[in-house]
Amino acid sequence: MTDFNWTKSQFHLPDGITYLDGNSLGPLPKNVTSRIEATVENEWGEMLVSAWNRAGWMVQPNRVGNRIGRLVGAEPDTVSVGDTLSIKIFQALAAALQLNPDRKVVLSDTGNFPSDLYIAEGLLKLLDREYRLVTVEPDEVESAIGPDTAALMLTHVDYRTGRMHDMARLTETARKAGSVTVWDLAHSAGAVPVDLAGCGADFAAGCTYKYLNAGPGAPAFIYARPGLHDRMQPALSGWLGHAAPFAFDPDYRAAEGIARMRIGTPPVIQMTALETALDVWDQVDMADLRARSVELTEYFIRAVKERCPDLDLFSPRDAGLRGSQVSFRFEHGYEMMQALIARGVVGDFRAPDVMRFGIAPLYIDEDNLARAVEVMAKALAEKAWQKAEYQVRADVT
Ligand SMILES: *Cc1c(COP(=O)(O)O)cnc(C)c1O
Repeated sequence: MTDFNWTKSQFHLPDGITYLDGNSLGPLPKNVTSRIEATVENEWGEMLVSAWNRAGWMVQPNRVGNRIGRLVGAEPDTVSVGDTLSIKIFQALAAALQLNPDRKVVLSDTGNFPSDLYIAEGLLKLLDREYRLVTVEPDEVESAIGPDTAALMLTHVDYRTGRMHDMARLTETARKAGSVTVWDLAHSAGAVPVDLAGCGADFAAGCTYKYLNAGPGAPAFIYARPGLHDRMQPALSGWLGHAAPFAFDPDYRAAEGIARMRIGTPPVIQMTALETALDVWDQVDMADLRARSVELTEYFIRAVKERCPDLDLFSPRDAGLRGSQVSFRFEHGYEMMQALIARGVVGDFRAPDVMRFGIAPLYIDEDNLARAVEVMAKALAEKAWQKAEYQVRADVT
């Protein structure tokens, strides 16, 4: 059994803060600070350039990829770490289209994260081969998969509503229709159990600064099904995805395996934060995490309904259709969230009127949620959102 009191003790959580925004930026794991200091001083400071070999910096993207792989049901050596999620989505989609050259449609849903859609648009424009990006309502995806679908590109758990797609079923439907699948796991990795291998997903990518708690700017990961490794063509063919980077061959030759999805120099210090943040996950069973997540989200939904009836649940009521976040719609959502943050309850706001709360079982418990609901009920009763200071919009919401 996973000990969630122990996992909670592994995080630095500032006094007086109830942190329900780990789905945007996870909190600091306590072991990261000293590990970063050691990496900077002992490896960068003392070993200098030799650390690429002696401290294992060059193989870190594969080593860390395997540790993330366990959390998303990937086979060994199918996950590589580096770059940002937007870049990894570009790589995955480009490879998917190249594997399915006679088809012209990239299918996604209207709830997908804008960056994924922007990246797809940019890629299709660059390819200039009459590709079309088609977006349908999330519950119409399955029926929209057809003989012209080259790639199905979806975010598993919707960033605003928390609605979770049935990955196994949609992947199977796409496979039968001859479409390649690209899954974005931004709100899945570390939030819900994922079984990439079991589903037969072709490509997946995710970020590590949300539920995996690796810190701002932490690198993303990319997965490709082992059967595709020899056939996929890297569109961003950088030197570290080359078969022999230090041969300095003027001609590109893709590396074997998932390593061909590497591009350039890895962000060692930030990847070390990620590697260290993964330590706590070694003690977590994903089935336990899911059970605890459902328990907590159910508790929160019931408490908000009882104490804050002005908020409309925006997430699916059925826990089976929901990830590990709960969102509500409220006319004054932005201002209300500012009022909550000022009172030490940190969630976030997503346009146009969505108040979003990430429920991460590693460090959130019923006491935190009860406090959040009490603060929210009081702020609503006081109409705290009317205060002038909460009307000002910051860059990051
Ligand atoms: C957070 C998020 C991103 C962010 O991409 P970055 O390149 O890391 O900024 C992309 N897609 C989804 C679905 C997200 O939730």
